[in-house]
Amino acid sequence: MNQRLQAPLSQWDTHTDFAARHIGPAAADEAHMLQVIGQSSRHALMQAVVPASIALQHPMDLPPAATEAEALQELKSIACRNRILKSFIGQGYYGTHTPGVIQRNILENPAWYTAYTPYQAEISQGRLEALLNFQTMVCDLTAMPIANASMLDEATAAAEAMALAQRSARSQSTVFVVHPDVHPQTLEVLRTRAAPMGWQICVPDTHEAFFTALQTPHFGALVQYPSSTGAIHDWQEAASLCHAQQALLVVAADLLALTLLTPPGEWGADIVVGSSQRFGMPMGAGGPHAAFMACQDTYKRSLPGRLVGVSLDAEGAPALRLALQTREQHIRREKATSNICTAQVLPAVVASMYAVYHGPDGLRAMAQRIASLTAALALGLEALGHRLVHDTAFDTITISVPGHALNIATRAVLTGVNLRKVSESELGISLDETSTAADVALLLRLFGSPSAPAVDTHTAARIPASLQRSSTYLNHPVFHRYRSETAMLRYIRSLADKDLALDRCMIPLGSCTMKLNATSEMLPITWPEFAHIHPFAPADQQQGYALLDQQLRQWLCSITGYADVSLQPNAGSQGEYAGLLAIRAWHAARGDSQRTVCLIPASAHGTNPASAQMCGMRVVVVACDAHGNIDMADLQAKCEAHSHELACIMVTYPSTHGVFEDSIRALCEVVHQHGGRVYVDGANMNALVGLAAPGAFGGDVSHLNLHKTFCIPHGGGGPGVGPVCVVQDLAPFLPGHATAGRPAAVGAVSAAPYGNASVLPISWMYIRMMGAAGLRHATEAAILNANYISTRLKAHYPTLYTGPDGLVAHECILDLRPLKDSSGVTAEDVAKRLIDYGFHAPTLSFPVPGTLMVEPTESEPLQELDRFIDAMIAIREEIRRIESGAWPREDNPLKNAPHTAAQLLREHWLHPYSRAEAAAQSQLAHKYWPPVARIDNVHGDRNLLCTCPMPDAYLS
Ligand SMILES: *Cc1c(COP(=O)(O)O)cnc(C)c1O
Repeated sequence: MNQRLQAPLSQWDTHTDFAARHIGPAAADEAHMLQVIGQSSRHALMQAVVPASIALQHPMDLPPAATEAEALQELKSIACRNRILKSFIGQGYYGTHTPGVIQRNILENPAWYTAYTPYQAEISQGRLEALLNFQTMVCDLTAMPIANASMLDEATAAAEAMALAQRSARSQSTVFVVHPDVHPQTLEVLRTRAAPMGWQICVPDTHEAFFTALQTPHFGALVQYPSSTGAIHDWQEAASLCHAQQALLVVAADLLALTLLTPPGEWGADIVVGSSQRFGMPMGAGGPHAAFMACQDTYKRSLPGRLVGVSLDAEGAPALRLALQTREQHIRREKATSNICTAQVLPAVVASMYAVYHGPDGLRAMAQRIASLTAALALGLEALGHRLVHDTAFDTITISVPGHALNIATRAVLTGVNLRKVSESELGISLDETSTAADVALLLRLFGSPSAPAVDTHTAARIPASLQRSSTYLNHPVFHRYRSETAMLRYIRSLADKDLALDRCMIPLGSCTMKLNATSEMLPITWPEFAHIHPFAPADQQQGYALLDQQLRQWLCSITGYADVSLQPNAGSQGEYAGLLAIRAWHAARGDSQRTVCLIPASAHGTNPASAQMCGMRVVVVACDAHGNIDMADLQAKCEAHSHELACIMVTYPSTHGVFEDSIRALCEVVHQHGGRVYVDGANMNALVGLAAPGAFGGDVSHLNLHKTFCIPHGGGGPGVGPVCVVQDLAPFLPGHATAGRPAAVGAVSAAPYGNASVLPISWMYIRMMGAAGLRHATEAAILNANYISTRLKAHYPTLYTGPDGLVAHECILDLRPLKDSSGVTAEDVAKRLIDYGFHAPTLSFPVPGTLMVEPTESEPLQELDRFIDAMIAIREEIRRIESGAWPREDNPLKNAPHTAAQLLREHWLHPYSRAEAAAQSQLAHKYWPPVARIDNVHGDRNLLCTCPMPDAYLS
């Protein structure tokens, strides 16, 4: 018998009100569930499941749990340390008015923010339509044929574009040329990403030198349109020079400016990236915002990120789904070209709705107003005798004030205004949707106007005649139909109604931890003190964020057992990347730069090898044994074979097979003996919090997914936060942010210094309200719920991998593979049939093909667990009818699932099962009607269409 968890834990078992609301099963439910599992107490269950060798011996060092009201009050006092000034800093972040109808009905609406990534397309038609609108908007504004939805931020989008250029260009060069006037944070992230790949970033000193550099070999180039300091350059020649070198031109463009400027697709751009922040998402100290990437048709099959496409359902009706899925789902392991997984879906939905709300006329009028105000400001400054650095402008001007830049900027802050300090001698001003004539007057006074000048809001814009846009955009009816708020409200509601999110049913997705996103945790994200902060505002205006960052990092250290944490990475994949960079830099600093081998078990999530590849590491796969555990003999052999080149191992703990491996400490020791470091993927941290800490059982680095374990909602596929946690000797290699005044050995991995800063309050609230005892109870309840499901379903669907005593961790893999032979039914058929029963499917075919991985989380109450189990058993009974021959293998409720209302209401019913059976009548109280029947993925991939199809009436 294995030695398992020993310490008496009962003294930790007290907790406050909030934990009882967060955790689904009440005490009486728990007693019943334990009886079903055959365990005498929750504590006994933990002793049986968690290896004693890793069990924490002390409670986590966290402040005592606060009530919802107390936590909100405390967080408010932190928020109030931020100071909201009017920001004219620009540099990729602008003031914007979030339309109320969008803020309340999308950003603050659980029907939108608790949805999962739309892998199950039939229950995701609403958000898929919103994302198709996003892609259409980006394609129209950039004049590019194809765009994804979405990227993490503009800087990482530019880095992904660089990588796309490198693998697509015919040029053999390793040089990437960057125009000197791009956003500094973009350049910083490019440098971080290029270094491990051995690519050289070339930044010529001047505009002229840039064109000279383009005449030498390079694989790609990046320009900004308009430039970071505001110039509107004609880049047509740059495109020609790139193409002459067999290189690709990447353009970072501003979507609002493109309503007035000739779009990049009309002058030769190959890839266009940018941020949609100013389309309705508050600055939020840097995120979350949706970035985008658009490219020419030739490159569409190597475009990173998610792509929504139009296909057909089983009835031949148009239906949406993620296109080219094999590429994304598996991220192609070591052949991966990108690791982006969780993206920025909710912000992309907001941006697309902002375009639907304003329409092309509204957006153009807004851009014109900004351009006129900017021109009026420029004229006024010139009249005061100031020299402007550029004679063209959209929303940004740069003023030459040698010797006075600091003075004026300081004076500006005293009057409540932030300007951009471009250099010692230059100041930048960017206007936006929120700017007024009064603001322009105020700015002119700052620059020496003796009295408040009159501002002509119709001043001619400083856009060169040759670059004024003549083509139309956003012609699709979706951008015209919803001008009244009534129509807009109903459109948003109608899309939400098509989708299944956590506000309707459990989403038992293994590895994804779809737990409660409590309303009290969500309330702070739209507080003005968090929302209206520019990421590059002076530090003394961001003291609230600094304190939030510091407290949250300290708590995460206590929880994980690590010494330091960075919250900069915008998703788990980015945390992996940052963690591997730290390991790489640590080896290099010790003169061991030959250590580039990264061991990864066969069962790993696809992002692991993808991240390793992006760090220039060589992936070596370690085998798993018949029980799903890492094969220790193979590990030993691989460590010996690569002893001199071993950089690290990446393991997920508990494993993606849903069990606590006893050998984890031994595994860490073997790798350490050979000079390697241990990366523990923290995606399954929901099975560990309060019970064991990776930093204490041998891990050197982990990333967490705050959008899994720490309650940030999934948003339909983002935003996320992927903190990277390290032991002491790796702390100097956490990502820095020179642009924000924090240089470090490893550069920035995100555009913004605190990453997706404005969603950090969610995780802060969760930890603050749960306290150490509540968090540990949550972990135990998650393990209890998983074991309850595994036990009750054992006779119907065996759990593939278990630990000693037949128990699992916080998730279980149901083995459906034998059903294929006995009935022809696949795991996918069961996933689709669950839709008829009103459920979101578990994780399909990961990590084992032909299986369903169920993770109920602690938040699901017993009655919902039972409803799910009963549905699974009812489906098993249906499969038995196929097995017995009562229903044919090709025509049965599983093969035809899901069933739409339209199918069931049709005059003629030609199936061997009844309409009532088709509708899963027993579940009528919870009935969800899918808007489409099963979707044909192959048709959509053969006929790739990734923008809103024009209704016939508009084509003629
Ligand atoms: C979710 C997950 C990831 C990726 O995290 P993202 O936030 O989607 O980038 C990595 N590893 C495992 C095991 C995961 O479950």
